[in-house]
Amino acid sequence: QAKAEGKRRLCFFDTEMQASVTRRLQLEKDIIRGLERGEFVIYLQAQLGEHQGLIGAEALVRWQHPERGVLAPGAFIEAAESAGLMGRIDSGVLRLACEQLAAWSRQPELAGLTLSVNLSAAELYRAGFVEEVQDVLAQTGANPARLKLELTESMLLSDMPIAIARMRALKDRGVRFAVDDFGTGYSSLLYLQQLPLDQLKIDQSFVRALPDDNNSLEIVRTIIALARSLRMEVIAEGVETQAQRQTLLASGCHLYQGYLFARPEPAQVLERMLSPAHGQPASV
Ligand code: C2E
Ligand code: MG
Ligand code: MG
Ligand code: MG
Repeated sequence: QAKAEGKRRLCFFDTEMQASVTRRLQLEKDIIRGLERGEFVIYLQAQLGEHQGLIGAEALVRWQHPERGVLAPGAFIEAAESAGLMGRIDSGVLRLACEQLAAWSRQPELAGLTLSVNLSAAELYRAGFVEEVQDVLAQTGANPARLKLELTESMLLSDMPIAIARMRALKDRGVRFAVDDFGTGYSSLLYLQQLPLDQLKIDQSFVRALPDDNNSLEIVRTIIALARSLRMEVIAEGVETQAQRQTLLASGCHLYQGYLFARPEPAQVLERMLSPAHGQPASV
């Protein structure tokens, strides 16, 4: 009887596996169709400086799925990556971000804002990456100095000489670089010093544990000190509470991103934060 049960279980497992493979293939087909129909858009999440003023935003991809509604990257990034489709999504995001920067540059009250764009692991190392970014900047008329590209520690470390060469080529045009989710990867002073970086983004896992968790507080303070000694900006992501913001401020971090201030929203919602009717975002 145990044997029969084992068999049944094996069958069940096979069916499950098959169903999951079918779902994955369907999702991949769906992503290709979505790309063809322009269903991938960017939402912008505000980044605030000292005195809570808007300084820029991070562009976060969203899939406006015809049946499932607006989907966050968690619902499709893994499938897109394994199907080799992330490059197409990232290219689309970069173009939309540059178009947004160009549109802002024509409005004096928005012209100073920066836009950060996430890159996936494969992007930086893809042949023609530097040229593609340069082309998109030229075609859209975006000011390169307003564009920030976000990389992760593991991406930077996988081939440092190539990463440095590509970053330098774009930095010569004025593009800036940030390390996303900083503190979660393998960080060594040696590599940080060699890379042409402009900003460290303190990972939200540390920010979330503030103000009570002493280990996280120590890590946050270390990252802030590191940024200062390497002359980089430091921004905290995932700031959700007033207590977190105050702890960060007291530790010397003056740039913030998080639900406390704004969620990722379509561009018009972010722009309203600066419209004359509303003035600067209200102090929180
Ligand atoms: P990330 O770049 O670290 O972006 C921050 C994520 O945290 C975003 O999730 C954002 O919505 C969320 N977040 C912001 N503030 C808060 C907060 O106060 N509390 C909490 N709990 N969450 C907050 P999202 O939009 O779902 O994106 C997840 C990840 O997907 C991003 O993490 C990034 O790694 C990736 N991603 C997003 N857009 C792109 C893209 O265009 N290309 C690539 N390659 N990756 C992207
Ligand atoms: Mg990011
Ligand atoms: Mg992050
Ligand atoms: Mg991330």
